[in-house]
Amino acid sequence: MMDLFAWAAKLKLAERFTLARGAEDEAEVVQVELRWRGQSAFGEGAPIARYEESAVDALEFLENSRELLGDDPFALEAINARLAAYPGQHAAKAALDAALHDLCGKLLGVPVWRLLGLQQHGPPTTWTISLGDPDEMARRAERAEGRFTRLKLKLGGLDGLDLQRVQAVRSVTRLPLVVDVNEYWSFEEALDTLPQLASLGVEYCEQPMLAGHLDGPELKKRAPLPIYVDEECHTLEDVEAARERAHGINIKLSKAGGIRESLRMVYAARALGLKVIIGCMNESGLGIAAACQLASLADHADLDGNLLLDSDPWPGVVLDQGVQVPSDRPGLGVVTTGDRVH
Ligand SMILES: [Mg+2]
Repeated sequence: MMDLFAWAAKLKLAERFTLARGAEDEAEVVQVELRWRGQSAFGEGAPIARYEESAVDALEFLENSRELLGDDPFALEAINARLAAYPGQHAAKAALDAALHDLCGKLLGVPVWRLLGLQQHGPPTTWTISLGDPDEMARRAERAEGRFTRLKLKLGGLDGLDLQRVQAVRSVTRLPLVVDVNEYWSFEEALDTLPQLASLGVEYCEQPMLAGHLDGPELKKRAPLPIYVDEECHTLEDVEAARERAHGINIKLSKAGGIRESLRMVYAARALGLKVIIGCMNESGLGIAAACQLASLADHADLDGNLLLDSDPWPGVVLDQGVQVPSDRPGLGVVTTGDRVH
């Protein structure tokens, strides 16, 4: 049997992270260690409150999942199927799936991106500018210059200032811009604002309206720039419905339940003519490293989670000319700087 240890970790953010739904100064994640035949492997998942997940519930699921792992870490599909019999808990499943991939990579002596037959380099990551006053957002955009090649602006202030936010940032930088409204526009606000954002050169808009909004298909028809869904696309079974409502989907390991489900989503999206963002939550380099392994399959990357932290306890991913590059060490290629947890 594989040995499993699981714990919650609090990650302090360098600056308060604000989006339409609220603000946070720290993020809570769950981390697991698997031990098998003398090898240790690690994975992380970020429980998402929006989907009624918490670290407490994730840890309980992990404690109860020990028997489901079996004695063959390479039997990834079979393990996935056993875990899938229990609904929800996608962050916990993502942590397990990442640790299993880390273990397989370490046992074979190859990085996971090679194990998957993929490339080491994906698209450059966006750098997230928290929702704030237009001037404040412009100042943050200025500070990103030189380090990042694309910016993602959090919108949805419900104060009529979203266009001014983008104008303020556009006035201080020539970097490509994308926006994420996190479900906070009405259909009317989306119809009013999107054409103006398109004329400012905004490349795409993520989740403009509430997940499942009845006017989603109509907005796609009338949108002058690509729409990506995030809050309404979690796992493989959500991908087909996205075609009518969006031009692409944002795949996150903690939403999907791990690398394998995310791969299925990428291929389903391709079959349906949808583009793909590989995204993240506020998470450490351990979580980001797992997402980076498949970033080369995506059109866009939003993998700045560990860079938003005060300090990253799991270094290994390197920001190189705007790209979050996974290590060429075996497995996920990250090593903790903290004390050994067990
Ligand atoms: Mg989003």
